[in-house]
Amino acid sequence: MVSTFTHEFNTPVYKGRASFSTGLYINGKFVEGSDKTTIDVINPSTGKVITKVAEATAKDVDIAVDAAQKAFETTWGLNSGGAERSKLLGKLARLMEEHQQELAALEALDNGKTFTWAMNADTAVAIDTIRYYAGWADKIHGQVQETDEKKLTYSRHEPIGVVGQIIPWNFPLLMMAWKLGPALATGNCIVLKPSEFTPLTAIRMCELIHQAGFPPGVFNLLTGYGSTVGAAIASHMKIEKIAFTGSTMVGRKIMEAAAKSNLKNVTLELGGKNPNIIFNDADLDQAVNWAAHGSYWNHGQACTAGSRIYVQSGVYDEFLAKFTEKVRSLKVGDPFAVDSYQGPQASKVQYDRIMNFIQSGKDQGATVHLGGDRNGTEGYYINPTIFTNTTPNMKIVQEEIFGPVGVVIKFDDEEDVIRQANDTVFGLAAAVFSQNITRAITTAHRLKAGTAWINCVNQIHSNVPFGGFKQSGIGRELGEYALHNYTAVKAVQVNLGYVM
Ligand code: NAP
Ligand code: MG
Repeated sequence: MVSTFTHEFNTPVYKGRASFSTGLYINGKFVEGSDKTTIDVINPSTGKVITKVAEATAKDVDIAVDAAQKAFETTWGLNSGGAERSKLLGKLARLMEEHQQELAALEALDNGKTFTWAMNADTAVAIDTIRYYAGWADKIHGQVQETDEKKLTYSRHEPIGVVGQIIPWNFPLLMMAWKLGPALATGNCIVLKPSEFTPLTAIRMCELIHQAGFPPGVFNLLTGYGSTVGAAIASHMKIEKIAFTGSTMVGRKIMEAAAKSNLKNVTLELGGKNPNIIFNDADLDQAVNWAAHGSYWNHGQACTAGSRIYVQSGVYDEFLAKFTEKVRSLKVGDPFAVDSYQGPQASKVQYDRIMNFIQSGKDQGATVHLGGDRNGTEGYYINPTIFTNTTPNMKIVQEEIFGPVGVVIKFDDEEDVIRQANDTVFGLAAAVFSQNITRAITTAHRLKAGTAWINCVNQIHSNVPFGGFKQSGIGRELGEYALHNYTAVKAVQVNLGYVM
């Protein structure tokens, strides 16, 4: 029997009740996994089990794909109109808005991010993204190509079919919205796997999707492990497109599985080790505030985290003093406390990974300028950490830590900092701080990254393309660009009297 999860939130920032089924959502119904096994859902603030959710298997992937295929051929895909899809997405956005606080509270409970940020960032942007793509759904069309007066030639942007989507735990609801919006607007049917560490908001979303009135099979959710369910999605012969957000290591596996199975179309949003360059002529107080937000927001668990902070020698000492003061003031604590900026890391695995990186920084001779240790004795809290005196080849300078750890690096020369900033396998985002507009823009143009922020960081808008250069990914999400990931272009050529 599918069990129900019920939770009373009685916190300073939110009081309310959540209650929903914890099964897989297939063909418009909550069902158990075919093996009837479950996965423990952990609260990272305490390390304790919140509830159990159904564990899907490869067999459930087949069942969900068949349901999606059937929906694509009957009620969705080319059988649905753009206006209808727009209406349903619009309704979903409204339902998310009505339940925004509950969604934010579930995110805080399961992921450990603060309720306040979950309200102001995750849920707010997720709603905006669904609404944005509701606007696109009835504006998807091809072109007419003028060829010959005796021919009519045009292109159609058709939905692809059944698409697989795999998302991570750092922005569970937001990453789901980025995937759902363009896929549903263009008429595809979905089989989605959330992270095993943070499945709750995805499950709650199934109820909202249901309530919005999407036909059964259009959206299917499989909670389960990457090595089983994720791998089965990536290698499925009837899934024609896969969209993945997660680590570069798993992204590689997805591409390999796609190549070895049916050459499904692949888009990847992967990791980053993002440079943040602060020139002598920056507005220093602003640069300090943004740099702290860049490196420590979402507990450093952001693919765009600006954790390599390059500061020009003329302002280095002043920057470091102010930055240290700022980072020290970031309040670590209960995600449901009014003044918390940083909650626990999302899981024990992630906590251990970050502590290992901190240890490697110490072992390789970098200086722990601030933090570097656990916060408290319960849950997975880590004090915001600053390293100085690093060298370019250290692990903490080269690898994505995905935790509240920033390295501050002194530089003299503009050419040299651009070379250092680009000296990475990643290319997701970069930031430049300078009040000299020419320097700021020319530097931004020379950085090899899918996003370059000038005098700000971590700005995301539903209509602005997002994605990575180099090993940070393939393809772009958001904006009009994301629609291309979910449409197949067909050229139609009609003979109007051209005689053989
Ligand atoms: P991850 O370990 O790569 O996992 C991501 C997803 O892939 C999870 O759902 C995971 O399942 C699944 N998975 C694991 N092994 C798989 C396999 N063999 N086949 C198919 N799926 C598999 O990443 P994460 O730790 O969740 O997230 C952190 C990473 O995501 C960071 O590198 C971060 O930079 C990146 N990220 C990128 C963006 C972006 O837009 N560029 C945004 C957010 C995060 P499980 O449930 O078993 O873990
Ligand atoms: Mg959790």
